[in-house]
Amino acid sequence: CGIIGILGREAVAPRMVDALKRLEYRGYDSAGVATLEHGHLTRRRAEGKLKNLEHRLEHEPLAGTIGIGHTRWATHGRPNETNAHPHAGKRVAVVHNGIIENFNELRHELQGNGASFVTETDTEVVAHLVDHLMATGLSPVAAVKAALPRLRGAFALGFLFEGEEDLLIGARRGSPLAVGHGDGEMYLGSDAIALAPFTSTISYLEDGDWVVLKRGGLQVYDETGAPVNRATMKSAASA
Ligand code: GLU
Repeated sequence: CGIIGILGREAVAPRMVDALKRLEYRGYDSAGVATLEHGHLTRRRAEGKLKNLEHRLEHEPLAGTIGIGHTRWATHGRPNETNAHPHAGKRVAVVHNGIIENFNELRHELQGNGASFVTETDTEVVAHLVDHLMATGLSPVAAVKAALPRLRGAFALGFLFEGEEDLLIGARRGSPLAVGHGDGEMYLGSDAIALAPFTSTISYLEDGDWVVLKRGGLQVYDETGAPVNRATMKSAASA
């Protein structure tokens, strides 16, 4: 339902929760964040309101300076902590808005390759698919590029990778996704309202686009994999 990603310079978990609060009006049943703690993918998730996630983070804080976060409106699988995003494989964590229509077929294929699924969601196939492609030797960028054409349905996705302290990848098809440009920071958000506390300088991705974000800049690709430029504009959403 709501997506935030931050390539930051200080701890990002509290900032991601603040951004997700701005998306509360859209409705949600659970929430979660993932960061890199000393390079390792680490998640905190909670059923129910963002307050529950905040309590979890008070008891078990995260210090990572890069992360992704999500508020979930369940379409596949009960609204509980196990099914809350981010979902994770060994090498990647993913947040997802929308529906992966061919998740059943992908799940069977990936189980055949040895993946073991722990949630009831359609989203988990995306984590295992990218994980599997990386296990064959692909880089994070090459793995996402190879995974996207295999997905059917409407989605916005955000990816965070084990050991990659300066890399977030976003992708959209049928669901909105925007990039925010900060001062030595970059952001990913399902809309400009989520990004308003951080920046008003926004690039909207077009349908089929995917984007590679680093703190120093970004590169957008269209669905054929060709590098493209997307206009940067000033958002009217107020902080
Ligand atoms: N289909 C996904 C799920 O049920 C994402 C739902 C959403 O957009 O929040 O977990």
